[in-house]
Amino acid sequence: MGARRVSTNGWLFWLAQHAKLGLVLLDEAVQNGVENGMLRAFVLASRKTADFERQDFKEQLSPNVSDQEFVQLVGAYNDFKIYNGMSLKAPPDVAHANFLRHRGLPDYGVRKKNPVKTHRVTHCWSCKNPLDNKVEIECVECGWIVCTCGACGCAR
Ligand SMILES: [Zn+2]
Ligand SMILES: [Zn+2]
Repeated sequence: MGARRVSTNGWLFWLAQHAKLGLVLLDEAVQNGVENGMLRAFVLASRKTADFERQDFKEQLSPNVSDQEFVQLVGAYNDFKIYNGMSLKAPPDVAHANFLRHRGLPDYGVRKKNPVKTHRVTHCWSCKNPLDNKVEIECVECGWIVCTCGACGCAR
């Protein structure tokens, strides 16, 4: 099994080239309700998700996904999500867990931020966007208010 793991909009996706189906995307966040021994994957050729036999599916994968294919595949998946009313951006707590996981860092979770606490910096060091004061959680480990992209001070 080979797949390229990418982090985008706070989600973790696995992108791969399937020997029969072509480009496929695996999103762990949509595996709820999938039968045992199966997995759900988005297939670019059909522009929708389907359930496949896990073992067989994984044996067909290779991680040869170019940057252009990455953009094409994630773009098509995001269109699919919009069409199906799924959220494009992960909630900050999910994004934070994925942020740490993508970097191999331990995750001690998040807690509600102190209401008087303000951001020490105005821009996120990771995604460079202005920090959003609507985010109400901070990282238990480093104490930084979590950015909507999931970044905290742990990976700095
Ligand atoms: Zn950020
Ligand atoms: Zn942290």
